[in-house]
Amino acid sequence: MLSGNSYYSGLIVENQQRQILKNHYIKIMDGPSEINSVYWDESTKSWKYKMISVEEYHGFVECQHCRKPMSHNVKSDGEFKVVYVKCGCTRDGF
Ligand SMILES: [Zn+2]
Repeated sequence: MLSGNSYYSGLIVENQQRQILKNHYIKIMDGPSEINSVYWDESTKSWKYKMISVEEYHGFVECQHCRKPMSHNVKSDGEFKVVYVKCGCTRDGF
Protein backbone atom coordinates (compact mmCIF):
# COMPACT_ATOMS: atom_id res chain seq x y z
CA MET A 1 0.00 0.00 0.00
CA LEU A 2 1.27 3.39 -0.94
CA SER A 3 0.98 6.01 1.72
CA GLY A 4 0.69 9.58 0.57
CA ASN A 5 3.07 10.67 3.26
CA SER A 6 5.78 8.13 2.73
CA TYR A 7 7.15 9.93 -0.28
CA TYR A 8 7.61 13.06 1.79
CA SER A 9 8.73 11.47 5.04
CA GLY A 10 12.35 11.62 3.99
CA LEU A 11 12.18 15.28 3.20
CA ILE A 12 12.65 17.97 5.73
CA VAL A 13 9.69 20.22 5.49
CA GLU A 14 11.29 23.61 5.37
CA ASN A 15 8.17 25.66 5.24
CA GLN A 16 4.45 25.43 5.06
CA GLN A 17 4.48 26.09 1.35
CA ARG A 18 5.74 22.61 0.78
CA GLN A 19 2.94 21.22 2.88
CA ILE A 20 0.42 23.09 0.78
CA LEU A 21 2.12 21.84 -2.35
CA LYS A 22 1.73 18.28 -1.22
CA ASN A 23 -2.01 18.70 -1.41
CA HIS A 24 -1.89 20.15 -4.87
CA TYR A 25 0.88 18.07 -6.33
CA ILE A 26 -1.45 15.44 -7.66
CA LYS A 27 -3.28 17.98 -9.77
CA ILE A 28 -0.17 18.86 -11.69
CA MET A 29 0.15 17.01 -14.96
CA ASP A 30 2.60 19.20 -16.75
CA GLY A 31 3.93 22.58 -15.84
CA PRO A 32 4.30 25.60 -18.06
CA SER A 33 7.70 26.32 -19.58
CA GLU A 34 7.30 30.01 -18.85
CA ILE A 35 5.35 31.96 -16.27
CA ASN A 36 4.41 35.59 -16.56
CA SER A 37 5.15 36.60 -13.00
CA VAL A 38 3.83 39.75 -11.45
CA TYR A 39 5.34 41.99 -8.82
CA TRP A 40 4.53 45.30 -7.24
CA ASP A 41 6.88 48.06 -8.23
CA GLU A 42 7.15 50.62 -5.45
CA SER A 43 8.77 53.31 -7.56
CA THR A 44 6.00 53.41 -10.14
CA LYS A 45 3.22 52.18 -7.83
CA SER A 46 2.06 49.68 -10.39
CA TRP A 47 2.19 46.01 -11.23
CA LYS A 48 5.04 44.87 -13.39
CA TYR A 49 5.39 41.63 -15.27
CA LYS A 50 8.39 39.49 -15.90
CA MET A 51 8.66 36.25 -17.83
CA ILE A 52 10.28 33.49 -15.80
CA SER A 53 11.66 30.48 -17.62
CA VAL A 54 10.82 27.27 -15.80
CA GLU A 55 13.36 24.50 -15.47
CA GLU A 56 11.32 22.35 -13.12
CA TYR A 57 7.73 22.77 -12.14
CA HIS A 58 6.70 21.89 -8.60
CA GLY A 59 3.10 22.93 -8.43
CA PHE A 60 1.16 25.95 -7.38
CA VAL A 61 -0.75 27.43 -4.50
CA GLU A 62 -4.27 28.46 -5.32
CA CYS A 63 -6.10 31.53 -4.13
CA GLN A 64 -8.60 30.76 -1.40
CA HIS A 65 -11.13 33.10 -2.97
CA CYS A 66 -11.14 32.39 -6.70
CA ARG A 67 -9.30 29.04 -6.67
CA LYS A 68 -6.95 30.19 -9.40
CA PRO A 69 -3.18 29.88 -9.06
CA MET A 70 -1.68 32.62 -6.92
CA SER A 71 1.91 31.46 -6.91
CA HIS A 72 3.93 28.76 -8.61
CA ASN A 73 6.85 26.89 -7.16
CA VAL A 74 9.47 26.45 -9.81
CA LYS A 75 13.13 25.99 -10.38
CA SER A 76 14.53 28.78 -12.49
CA ASP A 77 18.16 29.68 -13.12
CA GLY A 78 19.15 26.80 -10.87
CA GLU A 79 17.23 28.14 -7.87
CA PHE A 80 13.93 27.23 -6.31
CA LYS A 81 11.61 30.18 -6.39
CA VAL A 82 8.08 31.15 -5.60
CA VAL A 83 6.72 33.01 -8.58
CA TYR A 84 3.66 35.15 -8.00
CA VAL A 85 0.99 35.63 -10.61
CA LYS A 86 -2.25 37.54 -10.66
CA CYS A 87 -5.15 35.39 -9.59
CA GLY A 88 -8.70 36.06 -10.69
CA CYS A 89 -9.53 38.46 -7.88
CA THR A 90 -6.30 40.43 -7.47
CA ARG A 91 -6.92 44.13 -7.63
CA ASP A 92 -4.47 47.00 -7.80
CA GLY A 93 -2.77 47.41 -4.46
CA PHE A 94 -4.61 44.37 -3.19
ZN1 LIG B 1 -8.05 35.17 -6.20
